[in-house]
Amino acid sequence: MLQENNTRKVGGVSSGKGRALYINREKRKKRKKLISKIIAWSVLIAMVALILFGITKAFKFITGLFKDDFEFSYAVCENWPEHDTLSEVKKDYAIGIQYPIINDKTDKVIKKDIEKMLKSFKDEIKQFECGKKENRAVYTTNYSIVKNSDIYISLLYTVHRYNPAREIDDTQYIAKIYDIAAGKEVSAEEIFDEGYTSVVSNYVVNALESDGKYVAETATKLFTENTKAEFENFSNIGFTDKSMTVYFSAGDIFPTDMGALTLSIPMSKIYQNMKININGYTAPLYDADKPMIALTFDDGPRTSTTSRILDVLESVGGRATFFILGERVAAEKEMIIRGDQLGCEYGNHSWSHMNLSTATEEEILEQLNKTDDALFSVIGKKSALIRAPYAATNEIVFKAAGRPFIGWAVDTMDWDTRNAEAIKNEILSSADDGDIILLHDIYGDTAAAVETAIPALVEQGFQLVTVSELMEARDVTLTSGKVYYSARKK
Ligand code: ZN
Repeated sequence: MLQENNTRKVGGVSSGKGRALYINREKRKKRKKLISKIIAWSVLIAMVALILFGITKAFKFITGLFKDDFEFSYAVCENWPEHDTLSEVKKDYAIGIQYPIINDKTDKVIKKDIEKMLKSFKDEIKQFECGKKENRAVYTTNYSIVKNSDIYISLLYTVHRYNPAREIDDTQYIAKIYDIAAGKEVSAEEIFDEGYTSVVSNYVVNALESDGKYVAETATKLFTENTKAEFENFSNIGFTDKSMTVYFSAGDIFPTDMGALTLSIPMSKIYQNMKININGYTAPLYDADKPMIALTFDDGPRTSTTSRILDVLESVGGRATFFILGERVAAEKEMIIRGDQLGCEYGNHSWSHMNLSTATEEEILEQLNKTDDALFSVIGKKSALIRAPYAATNEIVFKAAGRPFIGWAVDTMDWDTRNAEAIKNEILSSADDGDIILLHDIYGDTAAAVETAIPALVEQGFQLVTVSELMEARDVTLTSGKVYYSARKK
């Protein structure tokens, strides 16, 4: 600063000297103007640039803020909606884990599992050199729960892995069984004995080798190694009342692009290997390897005839299925309770034997629902099976019923002949292993016929089972809106 001031002083002294000096002064003035102009423009340009830069920077910052505020899409678990989430959003990855809230004890264990899961996801993403912000890796985890008893629950996490930098876009399963009374996880080794591994391995291998979609991939090392009879291959499992599900994540036993896979195994195949009865499964009353027949009786109950049929069933240790009319339930409570105690099954045959195929949807629902409620009020159970009066069905009936329909392989014509001898002969000559036989428990002749036919069937080696037992024994999964006539051995 000091130096500058001195220069000006010198300049001031020079300026007072003659024309040459005046010209110099004009030039200098012009130059000064030019310099100021340049400076002014530069400042202006710089300012505009700064403003523009600032705006883009601010814009980027704001959009960046929105980008990091990542929105996870979780599915809601309808039968266990109470939940919490653990999430971590970074510029190159987003992990969101939704998990259930059970009770204090169990929640502690679940929280630990969830933290472990978060860490393993982060490690995996790191190891896979995850994407940049534009193609950020996203892991989202939803859960579903089946309450198996007051003590045990089956919990399944479905993980969707998306990592564009590594071309990963797949589904992984993490299944856990918890003892929610004690607040601890129960492992497959604790649930099953050693025999379990070969039973489940055989079942899985056979099922997939006979499935056209998978058979070509069952010769690979990946498949044979990971379906070997070892606990670690079959520990990702969950239970329902009637079955156990084995979960395979994408890449577990088949190439990743074939996706994840679940396989359901009937309890009847594995209950003998159970050390802990997770789902309160009761051992079947039949031998699945021996011949069996499902007798079905419609239009009852009627004490005078139904009681005779129950007597003879009880005397041979057999069971049957009764497709009852709702309007008869109130007067026949005792019969219904007795049949239930003998292990018989009740199906829904409408309230008043209405032809459902000519009824409106409201009428169909009323006929079926009133019957369900009547039965429920007596034995605390609803019918799982429907038999339409006159076998008259259509799409509206199927949709309204929302359950499987049961037909028959043998019609004894008891409703037509009303002749005990003829009915008995028809049963004994037509009945085959796996058949469903149509009878009516409202005729004396039908009762008389089965009083001799039932002991004769048992003598021939047939077991008398309910329709549901027959289907379970023959691995038939009943689907709503479908009609079933028999379940012969495959
Ligand atoms: Zn009927």
